[in-house]
Amino acid sequence: MTRVYNFAAGPAAIPEWVLKKAQAEMLDYHGSGMSVMEMSHRSAEFKEIIDNAKASLRRLMNIPEDYDILFLQGGGSTQFFMVALNLLQNGADIIDTGQWTKKAIKEQKKIGYVHVAASSKEDNYTYIPKIKQEDLDPKTDYVYICENNTIFGTKYKQLPPHDGKLLVADLSSCICSEPVDVTKYDLIFAGAQKNMGPAGVTIVILKKELLDRADQDKLPSMLSYKVHAEKDSMFNTPPTWGIYMVGLTCQWLEEVIGGLENMEKINQRKAKKLYDYIDNSKLYTNNVNKEDRSLMNVPFVTGDDELDKKFVAEAKKAGIANIKGHRSVGGMRASIYNAVTEEAVDYLIDFMKKFEKENA
Ligand code: PMP
Repeated sequence: MTRVYNFAAGPAAIPEWVLKKAQAEMLDYHGSGMSVMEMSHRSAEFKEIIDNAKASLRRLMNIPEDYDILFLQGGGSTQFFMVALNLLQNGADIIDTGQWTKKAIKEQKKIGYVHVAASSKEDNYTYIPKIKQEDLDPKTDYVYICENNTIFGTKYKQLPPHDGKLLVADLSSCICSEPVDVTKYDLIFAGAQKNMGPAGVTIVILKKELLDRADQDKLPSMLSYKVHAEKDSMFNTPPTWGIYMVGLTCQWLEEVIGGLENMEKINQRKAKKLYDYIDNSKLYTNNVNKEDRSLMNVPFVTGDDELDKKFVAEAKKAGIANIKGHRSVGGMRASIYNAVTEEAVDYLIDFMKKFEKENA
């Protein structure tokens, strides 16, 4: 068996510890005689799985008791409009940092008034716009951000001002990569398929007091946070396998990594090595404003499309998978999520050095 060095943007690498534990429990989960995938979501075994996953995530992220944790379906793309259906009364202020906010703007406009408070579009989304309170529309209910832009490799290091407004954040590509102060947010969502497990489950963390904002008579049940919260994410059949894998990933973060402070240190070391090498190289460039660089997604180019193609092809032969940049921007992108080891990053840098030498 050969496992590749996987730099995929999502679905992405999963810690080997998690995969092996899932493998060991695959045919007979804890003496139940069946796999988690074959189990009723109403069973005592599954109740323990979902309760443990929630409790572990609560401990890891230090989520206060006045916040609910939901495990939903429909990906980040459903959250683009579900937040508006549940929270928007007068309007939304959205900061545009590329693809994932562009889509949120488009969807939320179908539901209500949207004010784009700032955008880094004119510079091809290479930075995070710094906004002031005055840039916000006084009448909106919330400020919406994508905290880490997976495609452009940008990351908020400081949250935007939002006095008198809620803060809603898409943490799909940075959740659990570092500690965050959950109390600074009103709603966080994240698809699991980058840092938390397989595709198919979306984590939503929201203040309980927000559950009563929407008119429940007008909201389809599946799109109501309140309905899911009241049913403990079991209003309908939840994505059982995904929730189990999120639970194992949380267990790995707690017991093997030792918490999010440690995870952050490892991630910072990985990212620093890669950015330092790129910045000192004569071949590769990363165009993102240094202070806005992502810890998780590192796009880079050679400046020559043909050479980029050659890089991707040769990298593949060397066991480096999914290094091609997003189709909308081209070039390369190394997604160095939690499960991507320091060894993998070192291997990538060695390959980049060799390629640079050969193509100087
Ligand atoms: N938000 C971010 C930051 C993303 O990177 C993605 C997907 N890559 C999405 C939202 C959309 O998620 P999904 O494909 O799960 O709908």
